[in-house]
Amino acid sequence: MEKIKMTTPLVEMDGDEMTRILWQMIKDELLLPFLELNTEYYDLGLEHRNETDDQVTFDSAEATKKYGVAVKCATITPNAARMGEYSLKEMWKSPNGTIRAILDGTVFRAPIVVKGIEPCVKNWKKPITIARHAYGDVYKATEMKIPAAGKAELVYTAADGTETRELIHAFDGPGIIQGMHNLNKSIESFARSCFTYALDTKQTLWFATKDTISKKYDHTFKDIFQEIFDKEYKERFDAAGIEYFYTLIDDAVARVMKSEGGYIWACKNYDGDVMSDMISSAFGSLAMMTSVLVSPDGYFEYEAAHGTVQRHYYKHLKGEETSTNSVATIFAWTGALRKRGELDQNAALSEFANRLEKACIKTIEDGRMTKDLALITTIQNPTVLSSEGFIKAVRATLEEML
Ligand code: NAD
Repeated sequence: MEKIKMTTPLVEMDGDEMTRILWQMIKDELLLPFLELNTEYYDLGLEHRNETDDQVTFDSAEATKKYGVAVKCATITPNAARMGEYSLKEMWKSPNGTIRAILDGTVFRAPIVVKGIEPCVKNWKKPITIARHAYGDVYKATEMKIPAAGKAELVYTAADGTETRELIHAFDGPGIIQGMHNLNKSIESFARSCFTYALDTKQTLWFATKDTISKKYDHTFKDIFQEIFDKEYKERFDAAGIEYFYTLIDDAVARVMKSEGGYIWACKNYDGDVMSDMISSAFGSLAMMTSVLVSPDGYFEYEAAHGTVQRHYYKHLKGEETSTNSVATIFAWTGALRKRGELDQNAALSEFANRLEKACIKTIEDGRMTKDLALITTIQNPTVLSSEGFIKAVRATLEEML
């Protein structure tokens, strides 16, 4: 069989620990036998980040701007323990944070839905994608403990020195305050990323805030979304047969529970942080969650939502067998390959990505899976496979399908 050609390279960002091991297995078993894989390789493994003073992370993000599509392996975000373990020169920042800052995107997370791994919410039939605004609010807040009676105010000093003040509270005893911000520019990017992704995936978009209580802060989010939608996207949404739907966050939560899924739920930073964990656990497993960073300029970076699965890596180093789920990492590859195929009008490449996804799903639905899924499946007597065993089983299914 002739291998599928790729005209434009994918930006490949390699990573750490168990996911780095899976990365190579996926390439060897599921990609290289079928594709003339064309990637520009960046090693974001912690050792190489340390050697290059993290320059490689910046270079990989710039390459994503050049080519438009990247696929990323999970990477270690160093903490004190990692400083010693890898003899680091510095506590390098999270690569995801660095890449997000350069591409200025929104992260979309969607569960991979498989028969036999049933969501806790019985009526959820289709995936629910969470779009989380990744800038500002409580994540960039300034806080203060108020020790005793006194007055706290918000003060804005304009460039010409004029001050505007609002009373926060006149304290008559100890308490706490918090000041947070966001930027119209960032909210606009968030809105455009959401509308673009909704069109791209032909799914209705929901957005919710608490604008009845937060009449300026949250209301600004609501207004910016509505303005951009009416001006730039409404016609295209109509043509695609999808909707933009705004409601209050409490109404959204109630409706989500009763829905059958199949839409994108755009969330402010904190709501997205909390709700994406609820969605992933309710759909079954963190290892079945995909993640894509979509920039308002139309760059896409695909990855698994989980980390480097450190505990399995240490087992692997001791020579013990592991049963690590590679599905989300495979779907990071297929997401990126399909997007590359779309952009390059390479139908064979997109079709290959679709087949590989179907092969993963069929393998699990036929009862062959890794341990994390075997523990929660409704399929009777599943076959528990090792990390490598599962990838080989997917290859066998794929070959049957081809
Ligand atoms: P983790 O996602 O690696 O693991 C969390 C839990 O989920 C563990 O119990 C693990 O066994 C289980 N799990 C996760 N993925 C699995 C899979 N594919 N198959 C089977 N079980 C799976 O998160 P962590 O333990 O908090 O972090 C480990 C490392 O990953 C840290 O160094 C952290 O900085 C990094 N991390 C990276 C990313 C990223 O690159 N996007 C995200 C999160 C964490």
